[in-house]
Amino acid sequence: MRIAMISEHASPLAVFGEEKAGGQSTHVAELASAMAGAGHDVRVYARRDSPTLPHAVDTPDGYQVCHVPAGPARRLPEDDPLPYLGEFGSWLADTWRHGGWAPDVAHAHFWTSGLATVHASRRTGVPTVLTYHALGTVERRHRRVRDTSPPRRLGYERALGRAVDRVVVQCSDEVAELVRMGVPRSRMALVPPGVNEAVFRPDGPAAPRDPARPRILTVGRMVDRKGFLDVVRALPAVPDAECVVVGGPPAHLLPADTFARRLSALAESCGVADRVRLLGGVPREEMGTWYRSADVLVAAPWYEPFGLTPLEGMACGVPVIGTNVGGIADSVVDGLTGDLVPPRDPRALGTALRRLLGDNVRRFTYATAALDRIRSRYSWKRCAEQLSAVYGALAGTARRSPAVA
Ligand code: UDP
Repeated sequence: MRIAMISEHASPLAVFGEEKAGGQSTHVAELASAMAGAGHDVRVYARRDSPTLPHAVDTPDGYQVCHVPAGPARRLPEDDPLPYLGEFGSWLADTWRHGGWAPDVAHAHFWTSGLATVHASRRTGVPTVLTYHALGTVERRHRRVRDTSPPRRLGYERALGRAVDRVVVQCSDEVAELVRMGVPRSRMALVPPGVNEAVFRPDGPAAPRDPARPRILTVGRMVDRKGFLDVVRALPAVPDAECVVVGGPPAHLLPADTFARRLSALAESCGVADRVRLLGGVPREEMGTWYRSADVLVAAPWYEPFGLTPLEGMACGVPVIGTNVGGIADSVVDGLTGDLVPPRDPRALGTALRRLLGDNVRRFTYATAALDRIRSRYSWKRCAEQLSAVYGALAGTARRSPAVA
């Protein structure tokens, strides 16, 4: 099949570059690579956000990235490209009509890409698939006044759920949210993402550590909702353990980071400052060494569209204590591959930590079951197979138009 993936603000090329790739860039890069590896002809469309970007780039993973000239050739905040999405969609439609390559199916990532893709599809008949990645309604509920999305996002997301041919959802929690938004269940296909088992594996080097001191690892951006403050508040329950926090700006910029300062001040006031180590952001290739050095990974977000870090920890053979939210509620099976605790509940987290760190056999059985779960349910190969079936069912259904006939 000829597959177009539209990821307007998150180019998969970020994973080949110096700068840290966000979750969506990594997702699109892994998916495009898995689909190309399965023999499909894949093109990813991202907005041209720098004047130095070439028109198209062939990646070493066998797919092409095309840069769409819509709007200014500079970075825009995630929710700001709204005025340029029509231009983006028209460019796609023209290119698919006259550029000698038209897709059998177009898969949009995030609501902004969804709008551009539906616009192109109306003019070409190409069937469309959408993955939301994050939902405006959930962000509004949790972030309230701090939500920076345009007010129209919620209405667009609701309309997109009916305008596209299929919505690919990543976890059961997202299914429930979409049903509440009025998206028909019959339009959804639940296809969980994968984890790169070449990067995240149980064997391989581990970061140095003190063998006498249990290590708790927690990973993510330095923002409230990732729950780092709750992890620090739980530490008094495990007096001999150290806590390594990976993520945020690089180490040398941490002292200037407002959230990192809040975290350090809280650790001080909880009397655990000597046991909390803020590492700052580390390159993706080094993440495996940190997971493998840990006795337990804590993923304690207040909400999470999916949550890749528990998958990565599980793939590295580390038991996970996660909050019962988003994709974590699917990936961590409570009492079998890890423990689930309520979000924003340091007491429950402390109790779970004390129990797990004090029980070597439980940690070992969780880690073994977690690896099994990753291999059977969360490989990109499996994800590509499931998506091929979704795409294949749509590929023959293009509304007849001279462009795609
Ligand atoms: N990550 C990284 N370096 C860091 C911290 C995180 O490469 O210092 C990666 C991590 O391995 C994961 C991603 O960033 O792949 C975070 O994804 P997640 O879904 O947990 O959260 P998001 O940032 O997308 O909200």
